[in-house]
Amino acid sequence: MSEMMKGFAMLKIGEVGWIEKEIPECGPLDAIVRPLAIAICTSDIHTVYEGAIGDRHNMILGHEGCAEVVKVGSLVKDFKPGDRVLVPAITPDWNSLEAQAGYSMHSGGMLAGWKFSNFKDGVFSEYFHVNDADGNLALIPDGMSVEEACILSDMVPTGFHAVELADVQFGDTVLCIGIGAVGLMSVAGANLRGASRIICVGTRPVCVEAAKGYGATDFISYKDGSIEEQVMEMTKGKGVDRVCIAGGTVQTFESAIKSLKPGGKVGSVNYLGAGEYVTIPRVEWGCGMGHKQIMSGLMPGGRLRMEKLSSLVASGRLDVRPECTHVFHGWEHTEEALLLMKDKPKDLIKPIVVID
Ligand code: NDP
Ligand code: ZN
Repeated sequence: MSEMMKGFAMLKIGEVGWIEKEIPECGPLDAIVRPLAIAICTSDIHTVYEGAIGDRHNMILGHEGCAEVVKVGSLVKDFKPGDRVLVPAITPDWNSLEAQAGYSMHSGGMLAGWKFSNFKDGVFSEYFHVNDADGNLALIPDGMSVEEACILSDMVPTGFHAVELADVQFGDTVLCIGIGAVGLMSVAGANLRGASRIICVGTRPVCVEAAKGYGATDFISYKDGSIEEQVMEMTKGKGVDRVCIAGGTVQTFESAIKSLKPGGKVGSVNYLGAGEYVTIPRVEWGCGMGHKQIMSGLMPGGRLRMEKLSSLVASGRLDVRPECTHVFHGWEHTEEALLLMKDKPKDLIKPIVVID
């Protein structure tokens, strides 16, 4: 292994490019891996173009990918060089107090389980570092493509987390606000959990078609008037039991609360890239007494989650292939793939770059 590697980085807010850095060191619990494929996330766009986590200089981008293990630390028990692995976007330190308290994603501080292209260099480079390899990596199941493995990095675990946060129950009517790559997995997750009706908010035709395949029953366009008015009309004034949010802005919570029945729950995984405050409508929130709960969070990450969610794909219960709309081959397409995610053409769900 040479000492230096190339990585595709955020040079500063609004600027990206290739840089050279030293290959990261491998601590006793860690692994050094090389990507087999990487995927671009809307979060990369919030980070680079909206400066959502502040200015970063020469930080290698990316948190979604799958990889081959190149090196492991002396205390790593379950992985070895040559293993092909799923890598979750969120890689907590599993012995932290926050993880012991059930909030692995905040191990070491708020959002600190999200290390790639946040607290350290990301995965868009020839090699990258994975902390707590035994706690975070999982083997790619036999027969799974690297594209599918990429979708398992963040889209499945995050989209499903909205469903977990909203606590979807059998027979629920669920409103899914946002049906991009993340929200589509919320639709699929709500369907697996037994929702009877899934009302989707989103307009890109390719997403609408995919949502139908994942179990969506009704559609609303946020461009055709208020979401809540359309929901109330569709539900004869009753509203919905649960809302999953994977799109929209700081204002979207207002629509969610107005669409929700008393006792309902909102599960949001949206990354709010801009705006100072989230506003909650007082009256529709039951003047503070409506038992309308709002849960929002970063997905938990980790190996067990990767193993369980990948088993859904391996067993055929969840088909993630419709998400992989734009597949490139070779690092040289990384910037093109990133710009696609920024521009969101009508036929795009997810851009993936396979490193052949
Ligand atoms: P997309 O941009 O592909 O999808 C966003 C969806 O929201 C689309 O369906 C879009 O509709 C819809 N939408 C856009 N504007 C509005 C609006 N004003 N009101 C209602 N719906 C709207 O994004 P992704 O699916 O890739 O990501 C979704 C969010 O999840 C992002 O904010 C991302 O950063 C976040 N995320 C969070 C993670 C976590 O762990 N918490 C991890 C990964 C991502 P249209 O069809 O018209 O485009
Ligand atoms: Zn992501």
